[in-house]
Order: sequence, then structure tokens, then C-alpha cells
Amino acid sequence: MSERRFFAKLARALGVFLAESAGPARDDLWMREALALADEAAARGDVPVGALLVMDGRIIGAGFNTREHAGDPTGHAEVVALREACRALRRWRVDGATLYVTLEPCPMCAGALVNARVARLVYGADDPKAGAARTLYQICDDPRLNHRMAVQGGVLAEACAARLRRFFQEIRARRRAGEGEGAGAGAAEAEAGFKGRSTRRGDG
Ligand code: ZN
Repeated sequence: MSERRFFAKLARALGVFLAESAGPARDDLWMREALALADEAAARGDVPVGALLVMDGRIIGAGFNTREHAGDPTGHAEVVALREACRALRRWRVDGATLYVTLEPCPMCAGALVNARVARLVYGADDPKAGAARTLYQICDDPRLNHRMAVQGGVLAEACAARLRRFFQEIRARRRAGEGEGAGAGAAEAEAGFKGRSTRRGDG
């Protein structure tokens, strides 16, 4: 093998290695941003879920759960992020975009991602009570629907799940301390579903 061919081969191998290793590293980076958004939801008394939409290496939409704060059943982080992106792009399609979210999308959000033509979904913790990307339904890559996306779960899963556990623990503590019904009363509904998986490890 000539020296030139050897180096060309080496460069190609290195390129493949870099492409494969850069993906997950970038996913972690964006998921950390989504976690920061989840914290904002918790600060307002909403279940801590954060989401962001990334296209060509930049954030085109970001959101966190506003269900309690806005009194809106569709105020999930994914929908909020999609709405922001679509307003900015002035269109309903986000072809080529990746959605990062700290908790597996529910059926409503998974449906919204399909409708918006999201190219890739990356999520943190599985949701045993409402997960519609892998756990209960596989809406995001169901071959019967007119759009499918790549799905990657379990990114920083433990950190994402820990946020949820802490939030619900604090609600329980406030309840025990006798603080009124307002202390995340609606959020408690989501808790029932989440408690079940809190001990799962090694997927983050
Ligand atoms: Zn949802």
C-alpha cells in the first residue's frame, strides 16, 4: 500500500470514528441544555421536563412544561418548543431537526413530532405511564404513519429521572408539612406514573 493510500485510509477511519463519537457527545451537551429548561419548569411548580429543537447545530426552539402554570393540557415541553420553532421559521415543518427532551414523549407530543416532520428524537428517561416513543407505544417510528424519525432514548437518563424524583419528593414533603393543595396538586397525578421506574439504573 502506498503511503498516500495508507493515509487516505487512516483519514477515512478517523472520520468515521469522529462522526460516531461526536454524535453521542453532542447529544449529552444538548440534553444538559434541556435539563436546565426542566429546572425552570420546576421553579414554576410544573413537573420538570425540558425540550429543545436543534437544526444545523443551533437551537431553533426551546420549551419547558407549563401545564400547571398556564393551565394548558397541551403545555408540554415538546409542544412549547415546536411552537416556538415554527413561529420563528414561519412554517409547520421542521425537516432535519432533532428534538431533545428530558422525558420520553407522551402520545400527544409524539404525534406532534410526527406531524412536524422532526428527523430525530433524543430523550432522557423512559416514561412507564405515558411513554409513546418506546415504552407504551412506538408512534415516532410506526411504519403505518406517513413520517418516521430516528429514536434514541436513555441519554443522561439518570440525571433526567433524578430531577423528576426530587420534584415529587419535595411535593410530598410540602404536603406532609401541611402546605395547601396548591403545592403541585396537579403534578401529583403525573407522579403516580413516575415513581415506578425511579430505581432503574445504568441507562444513563
Ligand atoms: Zn407530551
